[in-house]
Amino acid sequence: MYISDILKNGGLNISFEVFPPKKTEMFEGVQAAVSELAKLRPDFISVTYGAGGGTSAYTADISAEIQDKHGITALSHLTCVASTKDEIDAISAKLREKGIENILAMRGDIPEDDKDFPNPQHFRYACDLISRLKEKGGFCIGGACYPEGHIECPNMETDLNNLRHKVDCGCDFLITQLFFDNAAFFRFRDKCAAKGINVPILAGIMPVQNASQIKRMCALSGASLTPKFTKMVEKYQGDPPALLQAGIAYATEQMVDLISNDADGIHVYTMNKPHIAAKIMENISALL
Ligand code: FAD
Repeated sequence: MYISDILKNGGLNISFEVFPPKKTEMFEGVQAAVSELAKLRPDFISVTYGAGGGTSAYTADISAEIQDKHGITALSHLTCVASTKDEIDAISAKLREKGIENILAMRGDIPEDDKDFPNPQHFRYACDLISRLKEKGGFCIGGACYPEGHIECPNMETDLNNLRHKVDCGCDFLITQLFFDNAAFFRFRDKCAAKGINVPILAGIMPVQNASQIKRMCALSGASLTPKFTKMVEKYQGDPPALLQAGIAYATEQMVDLISNDADGIHVYTMNKPHIAAKIMENISALL
């Protein structure tokens, strides 16, 4: 089913993100995590895509399993930075063969050692990939967006103009980068509306599991930390069970606020941890 149709249902949409195995021997572990996550009946499950290859083939396999074995709509991530246009056509054909109808189409991070970028044989931006997928037809397309601006972009206004162009190229919905400050999300949502970006925007929420993970994620994404969040991490960073419990409480509070303010949907970055997703779903069960 197209995610754009799921999002028209009118209710609150909760979806999960998982990542595929990095090596063949890790495949069963990911399958087991997906099985447990599927029991929570999210509206869809997305599967990330390794920009530099390696895990790429598994994205399609895990996505197909989500649909065929668990009866849940899958969203396959696809990035274009490390593949030629012909390779992208071959990957999208493979996704179609496996019955995947939804693609989160992105550029991917440019590898530091990539002296060839931009390469005329590759798509340069996500909007170019999206145009190609739309031209081929038959896919519902999602795009990535950044409530605090993409890390490479000089300012929010330029980023929003680029986002509007990306949506005009054929995005049916957007999913945000993780954020810890709901005020930033609400400001972003208002700015999108003012720019005429009218597709559903799903809010990306990540429950904190450990302090080093948060530092790494924030360095990569530029997501800012609220004073409340920073205090929490500082206080509990030496006590992993306490930090996990506090992190789940923080994510739950963010979600309640998003639901109260009519967010189009929430995409939970599960990090393949079903017990964390289960706790969060339990915490908001009466709100769904
Ligand atoms: P783009 O939309 O192409 O934007 C990249 C930069 O170029 C931005 O600064 C933008 O303002 C600018 N830009 C865009 N279009 C134009 C234009 N026409 N002219 C000039 N400038 C332009 N990465 C992975 O490798 N695998 C994943 O599975 C993955 N999943 C993700 C899921 C989500 C929800 C999010 C938010 C990100 C994910 N990423 C993933 C990370 C993503 O690949 C990076 O953030 C990447 O740096 C940008 O990708 P994009 O599709 O947003 O790029």
